Amino acid sequence: TAKANGRSGYAIFSPAQEELVTERRALERDLREALDDSGQFCVYYQPLYAARSRGLAGAEALVRWDHPVRGRVAPDAFIPLAEETGLIERLGAFVLNEACSAAVNWSVETLAVNVSAVELRSPVYAVRVANILMATGMSPRRLELEVTETALSDKDGHVQQNIQALKELGVRFALDDFGTGFSSLGRLQQLDVDRIKIDRSFVQGFGSENGDEAIVRAIVDLAKATGLKTTAEGVETVEQDRFLGSIGCDELQGFLLSRPLPRYEFEEILAGLQSQVRQNRI
Ligand code: C2E
Ligand code: MG
Ligand code: MG
Ligand code: MG
Repeated sequence: TAKANGRSGYAIFSPAQEELVTERRALERDLREALDDSGQFCVYYQPLYAARSRGLAGAEALVRWDHPVRGRVAPDAFIPLAEETGLIERLGAFVLNEACSAAVNWSVETLAVNVSAVELRSPVYAVRVANILMATGMSPRRLELEVTETALSDKDGHVQQNIQALKELGVRFALDDFGTGFSSLGRLQQLDVDRIKIDRSFVQGFGSENGDEAIVRAIVDLAKATGLKTTAEGVETVEQDRFLGSIGCDELQGFLLSRPLPRYEFEEILAGLQSQVRQNRI
């Protein structure tokens, strides 16, 4: 134990732990540097499709980090650190600004952007979002902020104030990764969101013996009864797509339909749709 190892009673790190600490410090330093030279970050857009009409309904903005030495670092490897160090506030503002600048001229209903609980706790978060919306000309009604259940139930005064202020502007909220947290179907009615995003672990559990089809059907039914929209994440197979459509899930997102794309590739899809409309093909 720490006590036995060090007279002072402070924990002595094992070499393996030492390495983790050093690595973490290095990553934090790199994150700071990257935020100053923002060329390292960019935003990808994953298309969201209406399950029924098959039409393009919007896109979810997903940050990408191209580290000069490490190469592309996955969000799951740096978002938690960005949250712990507070750097997420700058990163989040960068993503929102990029995404709103891009989406302001897009002919799709929704731009979805992930928001961390840490950002929502900031007393100036709602004002920051409002300023970005104004500066870019993006309509608040087309912005959907994706939050987790932990963030939504945060008792910190600013969280609820921020959400309230943003709702008053017309910004929508979606509950991300539904089913992975403490969420229960019963709580759905209390959580005041516009949409729930069903976590991909359920979608990918279809066909197993866990009864994931029944769970997802119940989620969609209850959401409908409560007036919430539903999006299924991680749709990878035609079977998953068909089942989700058959139970009335509103929107689909996943590699089957499209991977997250760089801005210009997403805009090529939009341009393709427009030329189809012009040629009366759809
Ligand atoms: P998320 O918000 O749940 O985003 C969906 C994740 O699922 C994305 O991972 C996306 O690439 C991945 N995905 C989409 N379709 C499929 C599929 O069919 N199969 C599989 N296996 N995966 C699929 P990504 O981009 O690596 O992001 C991971 C998480 O990092 C996001 O999960 C979100 O929580 C967080 N994140 C990403 N960008 C941001 C950001 O700008 N701000 C914040 N706060 N968090 C972000
Ligand atoms: Mg999300
Ligand atoms: Mg998710
Ligand atoms: Mg997530």
